[in-house]
Amino acid sequence: MSFIQLEQITKYFHGSQQPAVDSINLNIERGEIITLLGPSGCGKTTTLRMLAGFENPSTGKITIGDQVVYDNHKSLPPEKRGIGMVFQDYALFPHLTIEKNVMFGLNKWKRKERKERTQEVLELVGLADFANRYPSQISGGQQQRVALARALAPRPLVVLMDEPFSNLDAGLREKMRYEITSILRKANTTAIIVTHDQKDAFAVSDRVVVMKDGIIQQVASPREMYRCPKNSFVAQFVGKTNLITGKLEKDLKHVKTMIGTVCLPNQTEQMCENVKLSIRPEGCQICTEGTGSYTGEVERVTYSGEYQELYVNLSSNKSSESMVIYAPIDQEIEVGSIVSFNIKSDLVCLVE
Ligand code: ADP
Ligand code: MG
Repeated sequence: MSFIQLEQITKYFHGSQQPAVDSINLNIERGEIITLLGPSGCGKTTTLRMLAGFENPSTGKITIGDQVVYDNHKSLPPEKRGIGMVFQDYALFPHLTIEKNVMFGLNKWKRKERKERTQEVLELVGLADFANRYPSQISGGQQQRVALARALAPRPLVVLMDEPFSNLDAGLREKMRYEITSILRKANTTAIIVTHDQKDAFAVSDRVVVMKDGIIQQVASPREMYRCPKNSFVAQFVGKTNLITGKLEKDLKHVKTMIGTVCLPNQTEQMCENVKLSIRPEGCQICTEGTGSYTGEVERVTYSGEYQELYVNLSSNKSSESMVIYAPIDQEIEVGSIVSFNIKSDLVCLVE
């Protein structure tokens, strides 16, 4: 049995015909860092709040550790669920020092143990020297570490974080992705993190749960999700992609498309007329002197620093499709030129 289980969780808010969360099933193992990823309004926060006990599901069952925390209208209150919550705005008490903020969650502990544990988690988050400061006297990144220390202090079974990176600017955001994961790993805790940002999700988690309209679309490791997105929504939500339709050939290894025949990485079980392919831009490789299998006219070149993004019109192949292709920055490619390219089959996959 998994450490955390959500079974057939559905949530209707009062007066709404559409469920905010729709028949979710999710198993989380001890020590895993999981992110709930999806566009605004897809039900991420609602799912987190149901785990925390701030919101009750309309139907379904939730288990955390060896406790059933929700089943059939029987709900365990948040403080008995063994959860540590980090809120989006950190929710630190401004009139309390960092140390007192962290101690707050330990009010049932013995005085000496409280003091020791507070010291321990402040060291874990690298803020032992700031114990006597007030939240207004430390930076945003440090405030977030205090919020995490406070959540970790009572040794919760699971830490829940809602959009932990959204209040941070780009540079700090990248640093905090690393810091938060390394603190969670050191604390050896299970964590569920909500984000709408694919980069955040990929950088911090063991597995990503992509949601849309209250429904789980796919659960996979970042690598698997990027390489084998299940459907076109996931393919487009986790990175850039080209979605191209075609006809699967009899050998089940090739798809005939408007741009030419594309080779699939693995033989598929499926057999249908119209299939959709996701081809990642970096799966297309520009070839010199027309030696590639596909050609097109460059309509636009965007320079990102790490690579050039080419918008290639494939109309020469009797279609009006256009594709995004990444090319190395040292290749000089002009708008209006004809490029030839190959498609690496391991960055191609069939999607629903
Ligand atoms: P996310 O965190 O993914 O942006 P939410 O879980 O906050 O999404 O919201 C999911 C859906 O539920 C949205 O349509 C939102 O408007 C609705 N919703 C969230 N909270 C409430 C509430 N307290 N009352 C009514 N509807 C709500
Ligand atoms: Mg939210």
